[in-house]
Amino acid sequence: MSDYKDKYEMVIGLEVHAQLKTNTKIFAREGCEFGKNPNTETSTVTLGMPGVLPVLNKECVNMAILTGLALNSEIPNRCKFDRKQYFYPDLPKGYQISQYDEPICQGGWVQISNKKVGVTRAHLEEDAGKLVHAGAAGLYGSSYSLVDLNRAGTPLLEIVSEPDMRSSQEAREYVENLRNILKYIGVCDGNLEEGSMRADCNISIRPIGQKEFGTRAEIKNVNSFRSLVRAIEYEFVRQAEILEDGGKVIQETRLWDDNAGITSSMRGKEDAHDYRYFPEPDLMPLEISREWVEKIRATMPELPAQKAQRYIDAGLSEYDANVLVNQIEMAMYYDKLLEKGADAKTASNFLMGEVAAFLKEEKISIEESKLTVENFVKLLDLLKKGTISNNIAKALIVDILNTGKDAQALVEEKGLSVISDESSILPIIQKIIADNQEQVAAYKGGKDKLFGFFVGQAMKETKGRANPQLLNKLLKEELDK
Ligand code: ADP
Ligand code: MG
Repeated sequence: MSDYKDKYEMVIGLEVHAQLKTNTKIFAREGCEFGKNPNTETSTVTLGMPGVLPVLNKECVNMAILTGLALNSEIPNRCKFDRKQYFYPDLPKGYQISQYDEPICQGGWVQISNKKVGVTRAHLEEDAGKLVHAGAAGLYGSSYSLVDLNRAGTPLLEIVSEPDMRSSQEAREYVENLRNILKYIGVCDGNLEEGSMRADCNISIRPIGQKEFGTRAEIKNVNSFRSLVRAIEYEFVRQAEILEDGGKVIQETRLWDDNAGITSSMRGKEDAHDYRYFPEPDLMPLEISREWVEKIRATMPELPAQKAQRYIDAGLSEYDANVLVNQIEMAMYYDKLLEKGADAKTASNFLMGEVAAFLKEEKISIEESKLTVENFVKLLDLLKKGTISNNIAKALIVDILNTGKDAQALVEEKGLSVISDESSILPIIQKIIADNQEQVAAYKGGKDKLFGFFVGQAMKETKGRANPQLLNKLLKEELDK
């Protein structure tokens, strides 16, 4: 099966809508938390009552500026709001307040592994409400739709990329890295399933070697990384088949159907003039002083790429560093371990090994677990001092995850400290040798591998507590006698 990749190249540009993590809406005072009872987070402003006025939420501006700085954008001295007119049953005003020709952030880029993906712009806007289609199909009978306006007026930052991506993997990496940045700077929780981050995907194809872009389709309704990749791959083949048949791709908006695994036409693509944009008369243009920008810049936390580099410098592999950084809660927790003096490599091994496995099994986060940073560090200290062995430490950490008990107390209670005195280990070894004369003979006859057998027996006898170096040394001496 030809997948057309040897003949055509795809060109992808993404429009990511990030819901800003504010307490209240962008132009109204009610909250915008997900999952509230329908229509409880509304006001006359959200309902679009005649004569009401929007008031800009300053926190949205702060977050947009912070995002712009994190994305290497320019924050112009002035931006303004515009009305974008359209009819949606869940948009009571009949228009959306957005930013058209003077967005709050201009230019910028997001680093992915092989390139910088350009950011064209980022602008503030309000979200619409939600329609819930209910009941069975039927002309006027039992089918109906419900309108929930809780989400109407939720602040969004739309981040528009340049058409710089050339594969579904690059698109995926762009969205992943962008999402990470937004989470790290605390402006968006990045939850794709709850819709706090949505990506519209523009894709076109062109024969390899051609300079001009082809005609693009915009794909909506992509709400996971997996569907992003699937939708792009599907769309690539669909467009290639059209060209192969001598047809033309038409510019349109298409919907991704995750169950069917296909995109289908939703509507012809509007041009900007169809929206009859005009400056929002109820809001003044916004002047952003350089002092304001600098004040926000001073609050910039460490970004994911910087954090990953710091971990690499501390001794982690690039792979491990990225795995940690990609799970923000884990990374924050790990930072606390480092602050308390934990060895970088050992701590990351335990965190990404036993701890991650436990959390996955129990479906809880590190924050929800019973393993406190203090106790974790205590355990690592016991290991470092040689009080407990590595295997014991691994077992203990699971114990702590289950019970929350103090590491030191558990070691004492269960008698788990390493046995490091000869007088305790020697008799055990001598007994093992006496009991296994056949193996001893074979070992002396040249079967070196049997050494492991004796080590295993001794560990079994001491429940894994024998100091390994000492055990090896004594065992060798006894066997060589
Ligand atoms: P609109 O506002 O109508 O959606 P824009 O010009 O703002 O259109 O572009 C939207 C997105 O489409 C941007 O991310 C841009 O990079 C991308 N894009 C533009 N042209 C193409 C193309 N030919 N192929 C793929 N993506 C494109
Ligand atoms: Mg668009």
